[in-house]
This record gives sequence, C-alpha cells and structure tokens, in this order.
Amino acid sequence: MSRKLALVGIGKIARDQHIPALAANPDFKLVATTSRNASVAGVTAYTDLASLLKSERNIECVSLCTPPMARYDDARRALLAGCHVMLEKPPGATLSEVHDLEALADQKNITLFASWHSRHAAAVPAARDWLAEKTIVQVLIEWKEDVRYWHPGQDWIWQAGGLGVFDPSINALSILTEIMPHAIHLTDAVLTFPENRETPVAAFLTFRGSHGSDITGVFNWLEQGPPKWDITVKTNAGVAVLSEGGAKLAIDGVPVKTGPHEEYPSLYKRFSTLVHDGKSDVDLAPLTHVADAFMMGKREFTEAFEW
Ligand code: NAP
Repeated sequence: MSRKLALVGIGKIARDQHIPALAANPDFKLVATTSRNASVAGVTAYTDLASLLKSERNIECVSLCTPPMARYDDARRALLAGCHVMLEKPPGATLSEVHDLEALADQKNITLFASWHSRHAAAVPAARDWLAEKTIVQVLIEWKEDVRYWHPGQDWIWQAGGLGVFDPSINALSILTEIMPHAIHLTDAVLTFPENRETPVAAFLTFRGSHGSDITGVFNWLEQGPPKWDITVKTNAGVAVLSEGGAKLAIDGVPVKTGPHEEYPSLYKRFSTLVHDGKSDVDLAPLTHVADAFMMGKREFTEAFEW
C-alpha cells in the first residue's frame, strides 16, 4: 500500500527529479505540497507545512526540497507530527541542527533519511567495490561548472548557509566518502569569495587519507562550457576514473559496465526500505568536510559576482 507523502519546496529539484521519481514509485503517493509560490497540478497545495499537517491528518512521510537554511524548522515539525522525513542534500545548514533532528527521530522511533543523491549514481557502487581491496595513492577531484547555467537566479546559494560552490561540490565529497575504503581528513583549504557575496565561488582543498593517500579537490563555479564532475583515483593496481558525476567509470581507460543511472528513483527506494525497516540513515561525513573547510580555510576575495 502507498504511503501518503507531502513534498516541501516546489522548485527546481522537486520538479526535475522528486515528482517524476514519486510518480514512478508505488510505495508513495504524493498527496500534498507546500511552497510559498508554486503548486503541482492535481495535488493539494499549501503555503506552509504547519497548515498542511493541520489539515492533512494522515500524511506518513515528508520530503524536504527547500534550500538547507530553510530545512530545520520544517523537518522538526514533520518529525514531531510523527512523519518519516527525507532531507535533500546537504541535510542542513549546520551539523548541530542535523544531530538534533537525528536524536528526535530516534526518540520517536521514526525514520530520518539524509539523502545524498550522487551516491546513487550508476557507477558509484562499482567504484566502491573495485577500490575496496586497493591501496589508494592519490585522488584528484575536479568539480567545475557554470553557476549561471546550473543555478540561474538562485540567490540563496550566495547567502550564508547556502554553501556557494560547495552546493554542487558536496556531491563529490558524498561520492568520495562512499568509495574511499578508509577515513580522510582535511589538511588545507583556500576558499575564494566574490567581494559582494557570503559564500565562496571556488575552493581548493587537500585531504590526507588515514592510510597515507593524498587527496586534492578543485572546485570552481565559473567554468565555461561543459561541466567537469570527475574523480580520478590512482591505486597500487590501476587508475579508476569516475566521470559525469558518478554516472560512468573507467579502470585504466577501459569503461566498466554499470546499471541504469537512476539517482532519485533509487533514493526513494532507499527511503521506502528505511521506513519499512524502521531505520534511519544520517551520514554527516560530506557536510563535516565542508564545515572543516569553512573552519580552517584561508580566505581570498575576487571580483563581485552578478548574474
Ligand atoms: P530552488 O529551486 O531555488 O528552491 C526550492 C524551493 O524552495 C523554491 O522553489 C522555494 O519555493 C523554496 N525556497 C527557496 N528559498 C527558500 C527559503 N529561504 N525559505 C523557504 N523556502 C524557500 O532550489 P533547488 O535547486 O530545487 O534546490 C533545493 C535543494 O535541493 C538544495 O539543497 C540543493 O542543494 C538540492 N539539489 C538541487 C539540485 C539542482 O539541480 N537544482 C540537484 C540536487 C539537489 P517557494 O518560493 O515557492 O516557497
């Protein structure tokens, strides 16, 4: 039987991915939305979650697609109402607010799913399995895209808590922390801020792996032309290249066959399984690395950013 679900924040990712993925998943039925300005044809619309939960008495699940700074109050409200909650990435604007939500879900014995869609990219499981037995020597992450093309007019990404270039780059860190067979920690960071914005437009990070590997992340939001979303891993037994955001994998230049590229259908399958099994999944590793970068990163300033 389908679980009744409410979707919060009807913007780009809700329309591009969540609504089609929900329509194709018989485990969920989208029965209501909240958004201050938008609605979905055929679905009851509210402008805020408090009104929705007051009127729709049998909502079981709430999926939050708002920007991270607008997430906590609604997530807490949904958990207090006894709803299982799925969070878009990044799961919050701070680590402590997500710890708080996790404790609340635990206390109420309901599911909290902090989703990382890039971990569900087609080639990520194959990369993880191939790397599991290897000694990793060096990793290069290149995550470069044109913010004007991919995030047109989204001013929240430039506001404190919106993460700036880390909004896409945290996807790379979610993949890295999934495929690395051992822990990593940040050793150095340089963050470049437009002089008129609160979040960085570029970042250069270095990490050390607990087994001695060197990891470099080059993140840039002013890349012109096609985006580059690649992770190259040199090991003692060959080189793995994950490209196109984790959709493709090649080992020593030879493409590896993978399953279909279905990130959001896979996310909702995972949410359904977690709810069914009475479990939560809250991995804060990617957000922790970004928080570390803000904590110890040297700051540089560059020319003002205008759309
Ligand atoms: P978006 O379209 O700019 O925002 C989503 C919706 O949230 C907006 O339509 C807006 O609806 C509501 N909203 C915006 N700012 C708000 C605020 N300050 N307070 C309350 N509601 C607000 O953003 P998006 O691209 O969908 O991204 C949302 C989340 O999904 C982010 O965490 C992002 O990292 C993640 N994500 C995005 C993509 C992508 O390709 N865009 C991909 C994967 C994940 P109303 O104004 O109608 O309330």
